[in-house]
Amino acid sequence: MLKFGSYVRAANIDDALEVLRFKKGAMVLGGGIWMRLSNRTVPCVIDLSDCGLNTIEETDDEFRIGAYVTLRDLEVAGKLNAVTGNVLRDAVHDIVGVQMRQLATVGGSVFGRFGFSDVICALLALDTDVELAGAGRMPLAQFIDMPYELDVLTHVIVRKRDYRAAYQCMRKAATDFASANACAAYWDGSWHVSVGARPAKARLLAGDALGIASAEPTAEEIACAIEAVRSLKYSSNLWGSERYRRHLAGVLAARAIVEAAPYSSPEAADAARAVCSGEEAIA
Ligand SMILES: Cc1cc2nc3c(=O)[nH]c(=O)nc-3n(C[C@H](O)[C@H](O)[C@H](O)COP(=O)(O)OP(=O)(O)OC[C@H]3O[C@@H](n4cnc5c(N)ncnc54)[C@H](O)[C@@H]3O)c2cc1C
Repeated sequence: MLKFGSYVRAANIDDALEVLRFKKGAMVLGGGIWMRLSNRTVPCVIDLSDCGLNTIEETDDEFRIGAYVTLRDLEVAGKLNAVTGNVLRDAVHDIVGVQMRQLATVGGSVFGRFGFSDVICALLALDTDVELAGAGRMPLAQFIDMPYELDVLTHVIVRKRDYRAAYQCMRKAATDFASANACAAYWDGSWHVSVGARPAKARLLAGDALGIASAEPTAEEIACAIEAVRSLKYSSNLWGSERYRRHLAGVLAARAIVEAAPYSSPEAADAARAVCSGEEAIA
């Protein structure tokens, strides 16, 4: 059972950071859903409920998602989803159930940097930054590879772009962790494809590393992207073998690209779709 030695309800982010840095063993509390899986006593837990982090603010250029926004809030955020191809809705709607998604937070999901994370996989293909009270603002792609430091994640920021995007994942059973997940987004004239649940942390492929130059990828370009995705590192666990994951990730990424691509002719879309059937033998 999870126990807390002491509880601090921080009045603002500066206070939260100070307690986190100076009280030995202190931890920030998100929804507590992941934390409560462990059997230990956390010496001091910091609640950010009074720090105004439970809203999604829209400015001219970006959406600022507060760390205490829940996965359910993200799922039903109409405008944010409308401009990002609904990838955030699609990434979270199979995570356990509504009650759980009403507790789990965006801050906990992103700060946790879980390899299986559907939330990180979807955000990574978009133009996303994170904002931390101590380290400041940085791209999500940089943050996920940083060591775990004593800091408070305050916002996840999605810049407004002309997104065409789609999310794909495979679960062995409904609401289980993904065996692999992928998100494809076309913005700023190029494709961005993230692949997660490898089972290591999600990776982002873009530009030459992905091998797609056109907005409407040809069958050959899709085949190159599949190769690029399959050349990432995969490994085995309860949710899939390395070989299965490598194969699956290529198929999911290709399907996401084709779903997101603005094909002007049905023939071009059909030709691209034929490449990502996943019916070829597993290499
Ligand atoms: C049974 C189960 C199934 C799940 N399935 C999936 C799934 O299929 N896909 C998926 O993507 N996710 C899944 N998750 C993960 C879930 O979506 C959340 O990511 C997870 O619960 C963490 O969010 P939380 O708000 O509960 O964080 P907490 O448990 O409160 O915190 C997690 C960690 O992050 C730290 N933290 C929290 N907020 C902040 C902050 N603002 N700043 C700094 N540090 C912070 C905490 O100190 C702690 O170390 C699952 C979780 C469970 C328990």
